[in-house]
Amino acid sequence: MTQECIFCKIIAGDIPAALLYEDDDILAFNDISPAAPVHILVIPRKHMRGPASLSEADQSLIGKMVLKGTELAIDAGLADGYRLVMNNGENAGQTVFHLHLHVLGGRSMTWPPG
Ligand code: 5GP
Ligand code: ZN
Repeated sequence: MTQECIFCKIIAGDIPAALLYEDDDILAFNDISPAAPVHILVIPRKHMRGPASLSEADQSLIGKMVLKGTELAIDAGLADGYRLVMNNGENAGQTVFHLHLHVLGGRSMTWPPG
C-alpha cells in the first residue's frame, strides 16, 4: 500500500469506485473518465509501478489480469472488438503509477494510437 496512490486508496476502500470484479489478487472497476463507451481498469492489489516492475514471479498475476480483462470485455458485449492496453511511463501516457490494464471498446478505434 502506497499512501499517495489513488488505486491503493480504491483497494483500501478509502475512495469509491464502480467495482465490477474483485478477488484476493485483482480488482476491476470502471474508469472515472472513460475514453470509450466501455472503459474498465483491471489492477492488482499489490502495488507495482507499471509493467516494467513485473518479474517472473508475477506471470500468473499478469495472466489473470489479461484473462479477466478479456472476460469482462465479452461480458460487456464487446465480442466484435476491444482493446487491452497497458501504458508504461509518462511518454506512453501513464498517469497513475499503479499497474493497470485498460479494457476499451464500444466504438471503432484507429491504429496506431495517438
Ligand atoms: P493511465 O493514463 O495511467 O494509463 O491510466 C490511468 C487511468 O486511471 C485513466 O484512464 C484515468 O481516467 C483513470 N483514473 C484516474 N483516477 C481515477 C479514479 O480515482 N477512479 C477511477 N475509477 N479511475 C481513475
Ligand atoms: Zn498503488
